[in-house]
Amino acid sequence: MNLELTQDQINLQTAVREWAQAELAPLAYKLDQEAKFPTELYLKMNRDIGVASIPFKEEHGGLGLGILDMSLAIEELARADQTFAVTTMVAVATGLTLQQFGSDMHKEKYLPDIVAGKAVGSIAGTEPQAGSWTAGFTSRATRKGDKWSLTGEKAFITNSGTDITSYNLVGAITSPADAEKTKMSLFLVPDGTPGIEIGKSYDKLGWRSSDTHPIYMDGAEVGDEMIVGNEGDGRYIVHKTYQSARCFLSACALGLSQGCLDHSIAYAKDRQAFGRSLGGLQMIQKMIADMAIKTETSRLLARQAAAKVDAGNATLLELAMAKYHCCESSSEVADLAVQIHGGFGFMNDCPVSRYLRDTRITRIGDGSSQIQSMIIAKELGLDVDFT
Ligand SMILES: Cc1cc2nc3c(=O)[nH]c(=O)nc-3n(C[C@H](O)[C@H](O)[C@H](O)COP(=O)(O)OP(=O)(O)OC[C@H]3O[C@@H](n4cnc5c(N)ncnc54)[C@H](O)[C@@H]3O)c2cc1C
Repeated sequence: MNLELTQDQINLQTAVREWAQAELAPLAYKLDQEAKFPTELYLKMNRDIGVASIPFKEEHGGLGLGILDMSLAIEELARADQTFAVTTMVAVATGLTLQQFGSDMHKEKYLPDIVAGKAVGSIAGTEPQAGSWTAGFTSRATRKGDKWSLTGEKAFITNSGTDITSYNLVGAITSPADAEKTKMSLFLVPDGTPGIEIGKSYDKLGWRSSDTHPIYMDGAEVGDEMIVGNEGDGRYIVHKTYQSARCFLSACALGLSQGCLDHSIAYAKDRQAFGRSLGGLQMIQKMIADMAIKTETSRLLARQAAAKVDAGNATLLELAMAKYHCCESSSEVADLAVQIHGGFGFMNDCPVSRYLRDTRITRIGDGSSQIQSMIIAKELGLDVDFT
């Protein structure tokens, strides 16, 4: 497969890199310390370079580009600040869900602001008692005439409580309580819907300036028209959404690995030890070479996965391998980066210490490394039980 970027893709990558290094990187430490979603910066990015519009069709105000193009942008954002990249990826993933499965009303009313980067949305799957085990979800939507009443609790939902959150896409069981197999539907729940309470922001190890809350649903009513796709198709839709989300999270991890490499090479050249530069020491050189190999293999897998999603022939195996490798490697690369930075690497104002904290969650969220390993084993023909 040809993974060479086109000139247009190189131009896009350069534009996002320049913006991210000039506008985002200098603020990343402050954002991490303040642990507050930077609404103004998100709006500014989209005014300046329109990142959120990249993968949407032109008829919705987008640039009409693909998942690979969006992944290149996410990679460059994550190189400066993975947390900011994650906010962007979740907002775009929710919009792509509406573009692919939403009704005309969803697309006319809710999509334009996501594409213009004036609003964000969330995807609420995880519950306090069940994350990886999606069959354990218990949030329920009960039909009441032409409306649905939502009850239950969602946990750790990114972008659910910003001041530009437009909607939460909420998964809820719609099959009868005595059904042999539960069926989930996906509801577009507009921000401010009565009966929905966005809980207190979590105090997190990393991704501190991303916006993460529990969502409590206590009889929130939404109409039939707020179901995204068909009733009962929620699992299928989320599964499809994961195709692009896995590419985007792989790009988040890849960008962070590249950022660690950038910082480590610069530090190794600058720092003096034993009468020479740190980078002149062979064990430091070995660490940098290892980081570069892990970053480049991540790049190949991430780009291959994204290009195949665009071509419509991505396999579960390739997506799982990309997600697993990029995310696992990014922790290893960040750890090596801290080692190269010595004591300074342990300080909060050293970028790579933030990178190490931030990327830890990529091995847990969006299908943990263990779940990706199970998918890989299953795709290789082993008897894997997901129930
Ligand atoms: C900052 C942050 C943002 C998030 N954003 C979102 C969001 O926007 N939307 C959303 O829906 N969720 C979100 N999540 C939730 C995230 O997707 C879940 O935390 C993740 O899916 C893991 O679920 P869990 O926490 O319930 O862990 P569990 O599923 O309880 O897993 C615990 C451990 O057991 C392992 N494990 C589980 N099952 C198996 C198995 N069968 N075999 C082997 N090992 C297994 C897991 O890999 C993990 O290591 C977010 C989480 C965080 C921390």
